[in-house]
Amino acid sequence: MTGTFHLSAESTFAAAHTLPGVDMCARMHGHNWRVRITVRIAASRLDGHGMGVDFRDLERYAQEAVADFEHRYLNELPVFHDRPPTAETIARVVAERVTAALAAHPSGATIAEVELWEMPQYKVTYRP
Ligand SMILES: [Zn+2]
Repeated sequence: MTGTFHLSAESTFAAAHTLPGVDMCARMHGHNWRVRITVRIAASRLDGHGMGVDFRDLERYAQEAVADFEHRYLNELPVFHDRPPTAETIARVVAERVTAALAAHPSGATIAEVELWEMPQYKVTYRP
């Protein structure tokens, strides 16, 4: 079978951050973040059930990628010590973590993109 499938799953978390030097974002504030991970898999790699990556696994990858962000002040987390917790940076961290999780998956699926909403009307998309 030719072609490529893209599969997505979402998770959410509530967390605070500050972005020093960025206008009012320098004040501590929080968001209800929403994240969507999308992986790509060659159609030729579907398993015996005709599936690429089980959606439950995909959802777990999304949840685990942001688990340590839940109800935290992001600036305090080691992963953000050398890079500010902007939406862009958070999306990249999620991509790195999902990439690591996918390495153990037999499908050969890879991360296609991470979408991260910091508010319903503001979204960043990161494609590694
Ligand atoms: Zn913010």
